[in-house]
Amino acid sequence: MSDKKALTEKKSEDIPQQLQDLKPNPYILLNGTVHFNGNCNECRPYCGAICCASYHTIKLTETEAKSGKFLYKKASPNCNCDLCNIMREQGIKHTLLRQPDGSCIYLDGTRKCSIYEDRPEACRNYTCKQIPFMVVMPQYRKRK
Ligand code: SF4
Ligand code: SF4
Repeated sequence: MSDKKALTEKKSEDIPQQLQDLKPNPYILLNGTVHFNGNCNECRPYCGAICCASYHTIKLTETEAKSGKFLYKKASPNCNCDLCNIMREQGIKHTLLRQPDGSCIYLDGTRKCSIYEDRPEACRNYTCKQIPFMVVMPQYRKRK
């Protein structure tokens, strides 16, 4: 058995069977949480691009903010609004603007990123693969 094969098999043993089952399925439910397989095109009908719709902040680097390519809010040191408070807590200076329903300003009507090829570094580095999302019935959803 080659080292490479041993490593592959070891890795595979470490992953619970239910998570391995993610491969052919866009998502699975586990203990009241939902896990997506991270393939956005497969998952979108189920996840509704929750990553782009529910996070309060999408950080921009200084360079991205200065590039003029993005619509963003800058944290004000004196503002006491929820968003500025969150940004200061998270040490974030610039965050993408959001739509009234809380979604990222660049999330389009089909739940796709309208600037996908040019999205910020924070979005490029993000994966939802290891993130358990809570299953919340629509009537209990609250958006800010
Ligand atoms: S990264 Fe976002 S859009 Fe892609 S599958 Fe995960 S939650 Fe859905
Ligand atoms: S820029 Fe695109 S990928 Fe990033 S949060 Fe907004 S819609 Fe999602």
